[in-house]
Amino acid sequence: MPQKGIIFDIQRASLHDGPGIRTTVFLKGCPLRCIWCHNPESWILQPQLLYKEYKCTGCLSCVSACSSGAHNVSRKGTHLLNREQCQNCFQCVEECVYGALKASGWETDIIAVMKEVEKDCQYYMNSGGGITLSGGEPMLQFEFTLNLLKAASARNIHTCLETCGFGKREQYQAVMRYTDLFLFDMKSVDSQKHYELTGVHNEIILENLDFLYAGEAAIVLRCPLVPGVNDSDDQLEGIAALSRKYPGLKGIELLPYHNMGRKKWAEAGYAYPLDDIGNTEESVKRTWISKLRKMGCDKAVLA
Ligand code: SF4
Ligand code: SF4
Repeated sequence: MPQKGIIFDIQRASLHDGPGIRTTVFLKGCPLRCIWCHNPESWILQPQLLYKEYKCTGCLSCVSACSSGAHNVSRKGTHLLNREQCQNCFQCVEECVYGALKASGWETDIIAVMKEVEKDCQYYMNSGGGITLSGGEPMLQFEFTLNLLKAASARNIHTCLETCGFGKREQYQAVMRYTDLFLFDMKSVDSQKHYELTGVHNEIILENLDFLYAGEAAIVLRCPLVPGVNDSDDQLEGIAALSRKYPGLKGIELLPYHNMGRKKWAEAGYAYPLDDIGNTEESVKRTWISKLRKMGCDKAVLA
């Protein structure tokens, strides 16, 4: 029986998820709830309904398609969606010819994913690329992640694992052998701040970073920075301290906040918490780099 998993996207020709040209497989499910998340449709492990209100014409075809009563007609005759009633059967998606409704996530298996990944083997060879597992948090579907990494390694495809670090140590130990590069998130060096921004404290994450580094894993630290939220001097000093503690890090990437995820929050039915923050200005990005340089951290670059 092939190993099953739930994914919500496969992006070919990706240039931002590790070295070279890559195919990024996005797995569903995440234990964190980052307030700047660009993929909120990844949070829930199961497939879910997305609703693009701006595409809805009010044709009301979905109302009769839904036996759970989630789609309704308002007094004014317009379309209303009550997500609490939704059972994720996706009958309405079939009926919505305007593309306002979409199912995010589907069950797949290693063979199907590898078939897609192997289409670009030539590009990987020419560019030093490969496969990247992202999400969501791939470690939440540990068995599937491990087997995907094994399958890619067996075909000599370079493997990257993007992780928030909030997983079990023995599971990180198991994937290490098949992971050529970890893209390891560091969202806040302060545990309480980390909790406020993501819903979890960072002790386990720091311990896992330490464990992977001690095991000589190749690691790029990825630091999402939101102006005025987690880009304080203390945070930058914390990043610089990690670069001193782990001189063998393959890189430190700063990920400046942008608000392109906002639309996705609405589509998944969530209220966006950073409505008053715009995209990061160039001058702010340069200030981060310059402060880090002064703190002795030459490794940090803007992603
Ligand atoms: S079927 Fe689609 S376009 Fe028509 S009312 Fe429902 S969501 Fe809107
Ligand atoms: S996914 Fe199924 S239950 Fe949910 S709104 Fe659509 S038809 Fe109704």
